[in-house]
Amino acid sequence: MTEIPNPNTSVSRRPAALLTGASRGIGSAIALQLAQSGYDLFLLARKEQEKLEDCAALCRAAGARVVTRLADVSDSAACAEVFTDFDRHFSAPNLLVANAGISHLGLLQDMTPDDWDHMIRTDLSSCFYLSRLAIPRMLHAGSGKLIFLSSVWGSRGASCEVAYSAAKGGVNSFTRALAKELAPSNIQVNAIAPGAIDTDMNACLDAEERRALEDEIPAGRLGTAEEVAVLVCQLAAAPAYFTGNILTLSGGWAL
Ligand code: NAD
Repeated sequence: MTEIPNPNTSVSRRPAALLTGASRGIGSAIALQLAQSGYDLFLLARKEQEKLEDCAALCRAAGARVVTRLADVSDSAACAEVFTDFDRHFSAPNLLVANAGISHLGLLQDMTPDDWDHMIRTDLSSCFYLSRLAIPRMLHAGSGKLIFLSSVWGSRGASCEVAYSAAKGGVNSFTRALAKELAPSNIQVNAIAPGAIDTDMNACLDAEERRALEDEIPAGRLGTAEEVAVLVCQLAAAPAYFTGNILTLSGGWAL
């Protein structure tokens, strides 16, 4: 008798990745390149269901099994629900890419404590909320990889982006410390620190500001979401010994 696998419950042989912020920008580029690299995907975004589904359709066309879900990663309870749902569709996550993030432009003195908390919860605490749920599953599976999206501002600091810089600096320390904690367990932890990437996050720049920024970057242009995605896939394929690194991708801007 031939067993017909139920697509809702079958365990795929492809590795599974859980990726946040997949509705647009860097996240949707990562989703597509992971799909092309042989991953099945659990894709998350806060809103923009339609864009998330567009991204999922492209990934399915590349051969991936894809599950989508809207969730706010700044909320620890919502992250727990995400993993309950993940478990219904996949076995352990082979890869977690915590990409979702927001920026906040403005003077620190004009920020409210609520603005600050929201920034830290979205860009930093979410890495903790997601990792604490992914790690036991990876330990059970015997391996796993965690990749966080940081920023060059995490080590350099940016005027008018103090909270963002603090959150991304936290991501860098979180990455290094967690890499040490998990190295004995065959779980690799790395981060990518992009410079200026051409996504909606930089849509606030007018033409003159954009030209000024391009002049500052030795490569003479902003990076593309696809270039970040290539690096994520390379990190996902890196040897187990490669852990605790913050990889800068800035066209020479961070030098
Ligand atoms: P973007 O604004 O284009 O997309 C952000 C994504 O994150 C969206 O899918 C959004 O739904 C999701 N998101 C935001 N808040 C969320 C929340 N609370 N819960 C769930 N999802 C949420 O941004 P991007 O440029 O693609 O940036 C992706 C990552 O790269 C971010 O962590 C960002 O800080 C980092 N980064 C970007 C740049 C850049 O120049 N674009 C530079 C350095 C680092």
